[in-house]
Amino acid sequence: MMIKTVKFGGSSLSDSSHFKQFKNIVLSDGQRKVVVVSAPGKRFKDDHKITDLLYLCGAHKQYGVGFDEIFGIIVSRYKEIADNCGIGFDLDSEFSELKRKISSGISADELASRGEYLSAKLAAAYLGYEFHDSADLIFFNYDGTLDKEKTYKAIQRAYTGRGMVIPGFYGSMPNGSIRTFTRGGSDITGALAAAALTADVYENWTDVSGILIADPKIVKNPPAISHITYNELRELSFIGAQVMHEDAVFPVRETNIPLNIRNTNDPSNPGTMIMEDFGKEESSPSFITGIAGKKGFCAVTVVKNGLSSTPGLLRKIIEPFEKRSVNICFIPAGIDSVSVFVSSAQAEGFLYDIISELQKGVLPNSIRVTEHIAVIGAVGRRMANKLGVSGKIFAELGKSGVNIRMITQGPDELNIIFGVEEKDFEQSIRVLYDSFVKEKQP
Ligand code: ASP
Repeated sequence: MMIKTVKFGGSSLSDSSHFKQFKNIVLSDGQRKVVVVSAPGKRFKDDHKITDLLYLCGAHKQYGVGFDEIFGIIVSRYKEIADNCGIGFDLDSEFSELKRKISSGISADELASRGEYLSAKLAAAYLGYEFHDSADLIFFNYDGTLDKEKTYKAIQRAYTGRGMVIPGFYGSMPNGSIRTFTRGGSDITGALAAAALTADVYENWTDVSGILIADPKIVKNPPAISHITYNELRELSFIGAQVMHEDAVFPVRETNIPLNIRNTNDPSNPGTMIMEDFGKEESSPSFITGIAGKKGFCAVTVVKNGLSSTPGLLRKIIEPFEKRSVNICFIPAGIDSVSVFVSSAQAEGFLYDIISELQKGVLPNSIRVTEHIAVIGAVGRRMANKLGVSGKIFAELGKSGVNIRMITQGPDELNIIFGVEEKDFEQSIRVLYDSFVKEKQP
C-alpha cells in the first residue's frame, strides 16, 4: 500500500473554507494517510498568522500588558473553523487551559506550538483521523539538534496504517519541554514523517502551484517548474530563489522520496515534482529549469603577477575572509587575478581590515573593490554537455546592452552564473526568460 505524507501550510488552513478544501484533498486519495498541519496562516494580505499572534500574547504577558484582546482574536479564528466546518471539538477547555498556562508562565516555544497543536486537533476530528502529539514523535537533543533515530522510531511506532494527523513545527527536549523548529518548520516535520515511514511521496500543499521558473515580480506570469532535481533546487535556492528550507528538503532527499509542491486552491494542478533524477528520456522545451538571482554582492579583486603559479597564494587571499566569518560565494579567477564575491551585508565593517591584511600578506599589484553587483543564475540539468548554451546566453545579454562583470559555471554544468551591475539585474533576468523560456512554452 502506498503512503503519501501530506503537509498543509498555514495559508491552506487559514479559515473554514480552506479547511473544507483541505478535507476534500486529503480524503479524495486514500493513500494520503499521514497528515502534517501548520497553524492557520494569513487569510488576506494584511492578516496575521496565528503563530505571530501567539508570540505577541507572550510578549504582552512578559511586559505586563493585558493580552485578552489578542487571545480573543486567536479563539475566534479557531471557532470560525470549528463552527463552519461542524467540528465537534471542545475548544473552550483547550483555550481556558492555555490562558491559565500563559498567566502562570509558559515558554515562548510552547506557547507558539499551540497554533499547530490546535490546528491538528481540529484537523484530526474533521478527517476522522488519529491525533498524534509531536511532543511524543519529534525529539531534540539538548544542543537543539534533532535526535533523528529516536524521532524516526517514534513515528514508525505511531503509524498503524490508519490515518493520522501530526502538528508541525515542534517536538520535545530530553526533559520533555516543548521546542519549536525555526519559523516555517512544519515543512521539516512533514519531511521527517515522510522519511521515517519511507513514504512514496511527500506532498507539500501551499498556495502556489509549485516553484515558479522566475520571480513573478520581474517577469510576467512565469509558469511553475514541472520537474526539478534536488541538485537544481539547491542551486536555485543558493542563487536566491525563495524555496523550501534546506533542513526540510534533506530528510526526503536522503531517503530518495519525491517531493511534490501542490496548490490547495488548485488541487488538480500537478505542481512541481522534485526528485533526485528523472532519467534520460525526459524532454523539455527549454534547457533552463529555473532562473534566480539576487542583488547585494561586492567583489574584491586581487591582481598579483604569478598568482596561478605560486602555491599557497590563493589560500592567503581567502584567509582574511575566513577569519572574519565572511562567506565566499563565488571565486572566479584569471591567470594573474582573482575576484572574491561576498555578500555586501556580510562584509560590511570588515572590508578595510580584509584589504589591509591582503596588502600585507599577499603584496598584490593591485586590489579593487566593486560594489553593487547582482548575481544571476540560469539553472538546468539539460545544460550539461550541451554545446553553445553559454554562447547563446551571453549573445542575448550582449544584444540587450547588459555589461557582464563575472561569469562562472560549476564543474557539473548545472548552472551558468554571471554578475552584472545591480541596475541591470531585472533586465538580465527578463532577457534570459524571454529568450530561452517564454518562447518555448507549449
Ligand atoms: N506556524 C509556524 C510559522 O508560522 C510554522 C509553520 O507554519 O511552518 O512559522
